[in-house]
Parts: sequence; C-alpha cells; structure tokens
Amino acid sequence: MNILVVNTGSSSLKYQLFDMDTTVSMAGGVVERIGEEQGVLNHKDFSKGREEKTRLEQKIEDHREAMHLAASLITHNIDAVGHRVVQGGEAFKEAVIIDQAVKEAVRENNSLAPLHNPPNLIGIEVAEDLFPGKPQVAVFDTNFHQTLPEKAFLYGLPYEYYQKYKIRKYGFHGTSHKYVAGRAAELMEKPAREINLITLHLGNGCSISAVKGGRCVDTSMGMTPLAGVMMGTRTGDLDPAIFGYLMDHTGMSQKEMDEVLNKKSGLKGICGHNDLRDIHALAQKGDRLAILAVDMFAYQIKKYIGSSAAALGRVDGLVFTAGIGENDDIVRARILEELDFLGIDLDEEKNKIRSGQARAIHKDISRVQIWVVPTNEELQIAMETCEVLER
Ligand code: AMP
Repeated sequence: MNILVVNTGSSSLKYQLFDMDTTVSMAGGVVERIGEEQGVLNHKDFSKGREEKTRLEQKIEDHREAMHLAASLITHNIDAVGHRVVQGGEAFKEAVIIDQAVKEAVRENNSLAPLHNPPNLIGIEVAEDLFPGKPQVAVFDTNFHQTLPEKAFLYGLPYEYYQKYKIRKYGFHGTSHKYVAGRAAELMEKPAREINLITLHLGNGCSISAVKGGRCVDTSMGMTPLAGVMMGTRTGDLDPAIFGYLMDHTGMSQKEMDEVLNKKSGLKGICGHNDLRDIHALAQKGDRLAILAVDMFAYQIKKYIGSSAAALGRVDGLVFTAGIGENDDIVRARILEELDFLGIDLDEEKNKIRSGQARAIHKDISRVQIWVVPTNEELQIAMETCEVLER
C-alpha cells in the first residue's frame, strides 16, 4: 500500500510517499512561502534507487496549488493519505478516518491551536478534492498524550475552567515520542508494555515524556507548546504571575507578550541565538551568556528527567531524539552529568560518535539504557494510517 503523508503549515506543505510493504520512502518534498511573491518547491524522488531532485521557483498562490504541484511530481499510485493534525483535543485518542464529523471536531479545536489546525484542515480538504475516493486519515500530535491520568493533565485552577474552556495539559510532539518509544523497545529487545522510558524530543521545540509500559503518563508541554523546558525561542515553564507583572510594567499588549514568550525567549532570550551550533561556537570563545544559556537548558532538562523518573517509579531507558537530541553530544553529556544516583551512566566515548543511525550510548554498568534514536514522524503517521485502514 502506498501512503502519502501530508503536513500543512501556515505557509508551507511537507509531504512524503511511503511504500508500506517495505516502509521505504519513495518520494517527498517541501513547498515553502506559499502565498508569497516567490514560492519554492523542493522535491526528491528515491524510487529509481538514486535521488532525483526537482526544484521549482514560482508564485504558489495557495495550498491547493502547492498540493497540485506536489502531486504532479509524484508518479506513483496513491492508496491513502495520512494527515498530521496538531490539536485533537480530547475527542481523539487515536488516528481516525476523516469524515465530516472529524473535520467539525478539528475545527472546534481551532482556538486551542490557531496557527496549526486551520492549515491542517485546508490540507485535508485539498487532498479530498485531489484524491477523490481515497481514504484520508488524521493522526493527531496530541493522541499519544491522551493516556495521561487526570492528576497529570489538570492544572491547579478552578475545575470549571477545564469544563468550560478545555484548559488542561494536552502535550505535543506525540507522534515523535510514540515513534522513538516504539523503536527503543525494539532496540532494547523488550516488549513495550514491560519497559518504562523517558523520551526527550529536543529540537527547535523541546518536550520530555514519561512512557510507562508503552503508554504516556506525563509530558512536559502543556495546553500549548510553550510549556516545559526552555527552548530555542520559547520560555518553557514560567511563574504565571510574571505575565501580568510584565504587562503592567512594560505596557505590552497580550499579543506583544505572546511574541516575547514564543519568539524572543528561551536560548535566544538569554544569549541572542537559538541554534545550539552557534551557541557552542560562542561559548568556546568564552561568551558568558552563551555558556549560561547551555547551563540553563541542560539543567532544566535534567530536572524533567528527575520528575519523569519520579512519575514512572522505575526507568529502563532514556531516548534522545530530534535536531539537538540526535546531534548534540555536548548537550547530552551536560544533561546527564551526575545522574549516576538514578542509575544513568553515559559512555562519553560512545556519546561523541556522530551517526545518523539509532545507537546506544550508555556504559555497560548503566542500569538505565541510553539511546539516540532518529525520529521519523512521517513514517509513524504512515504506519498509523495503515493500522486504521486495516482495522
Ligand atoms: P529540529 O527542530 O528537530 O529540526 O531541530 C533543530 C535544532 O537542532 C537547531 O536549532 C539546532 O539547535 C539543533 N541542531 C541541529 N543539528 C545540530 C548539530 N549538528 N549539532 C548541534 N545541534 C544541532
């Protein structure tokens, strides 16, 4: 079965076609700057055993035109389409075949994810037109975290706010956490239901999940992807009183505050940069704020490992993934410093080896296994699309 995976952002479209008999990607691409003067499409085809690239630069009016362009470059038959949808609220515990009711439910969650759900819906509607009669499946970023118990997902606010306004922790990056937790169980040669893992998705956005016997029991992100550890440009957890205090003292509007919390904070807020490669280069030259930014980042993640361990009761494995988790040995080492009291012993040499493959980086004596597992959200969406259709 050939599954096309579609991920629509506000001005972008990512897509990948999988042959699910082999789980190999046959083609994929990214369309960017949709709606701007000059759009760009970068397409790759792997089906002839080598990579063939196509690049188009032209005005791309809207997502409909973007999807048409992408589809015109895909020479294979498409059996079904799997869509990434960011916010499924409480309505969806797992992937679903999209019908009118599902689209309505996604629309109802728009206010919880105003930047993501509306373009996701557009992607669904365009794909329905373009591939009539082919099943369309929605895989939600929030699915994997729907197993959180009430004590973990509720905030200490009046309970009626949860009932009236749906205020609760939803968690994000669920597709990535689920994928790497599943891969780690395979690599550890243990059934997922028998092991407890802490999965660390550390990229531009960062989240940490506690996964008990294959089910997520807690996660660092909250009602929005702003919560948890500090990130490239996002604050992470804050004392909620800071928001009103800053508005009073600076005269900033709520919109301006949102901009500060989402785009001007985190690593960037501390040292002026959000890419850890730039930050390490500055730190090596002795830049105090770059050194401080790495210190703070590693310390906050370390503390989430501690709280996740407490939530799990027993930890069998740590799994690092995404841009920083997969590539940054300096940050991994800093996070795991002095965690031997939890049975976490990093092998410094294994940690330094660069590779695009999944690999173990713990010492033989480490009670907790430590893995680096490249994430593959597109493949996870394709796998879940297949599962839904088979069911
Ligand atoms: P992602 O959101 O998963 O694409 O991750 C992007 C982030 O990963 C970048 O902002 C960098 O901070 C980090 N990153 C990517 N590649 C490397 C690398 N080779 N070394 C250190 N950090 C990296």
